[in-house]
Amino acid sequence: MRLILLGPPGAGKGTQATRLVEKFGIPQLSTGDMLRAAVKAGTPVGLRVKAVLESGSLVSDDIVVGIVADRIDEPDAKGGFILDGFPRTIAQAEALDAMLARKDMKLGAAIELQVDPDKLIDRILRRAEQAMAAGQPVRKDDDPEVFKTRLAAYQRDTAAVTPYYRDRGVLHVVDGMAPIGNVSASIDEILAAYA
Ligand code: AMP
Repeated sequence: MRLILLGPPGAGKGTQATRLVEKFGIPQLSTGDMLRAAVKAGTPVGLRVKAVLESGSLVSDDIVVGIVADRIDEPDAKGGFILDGFPRTIAQAEALDAMLARKDMKLGAAIELQVDPDKLIDRILRRAEQAMAAGQPVRKDDDPEVFKTRLAAYQRDTAAVTPYYRDRGVLHVVDGMAPIGNVSASIDEILAAYA
């Protein structure tokens, strides 16, 4: 199964992706995680993107597309994958289509977690508090000001990705403001048709 999770930062894509990894035994390909790992490791890509990540803006399409193209070639992604945080622009969505066509792979579903943008700031503040309480590092870009930039980038560039998949007949929309258990159940119901 090849799956895309869509929705603004803080919508719960990471939480759902983690759960689906367990359920289907396919990897979560989070471009945010990959970019943060590159920054931490100080790779050439990491050095190029560090300041962009900290600002909350989007990294250039060519860098992100390159990372995803390499990642889906890894053996663990052969049987499927869950894309989390990619594609974030129409150009990335088109690049993904081309990539999959070249590999003779087909996309299963795109699931959008629809949320109320006004409530996201609260959710992200809670995420930071919980991380702190658990002694985990707080993401620098979960700072409320940076988060606003991330949300603006979503509204400017990424919101257009949803209609892209709707036009291709693969989009499913789930209420991401519902309790986590309900969100999970809705996603499972959608994916039952793809199993
Ligand atoms: P995330 O963990 O998905 O919220 O991503 C964290 C940050 O990584 C974003 O604010 C962007 O700076 C960068 N990023 C992640 N995925 C992408 C993408 N598909 N395109 C551009 N930038 C990205």
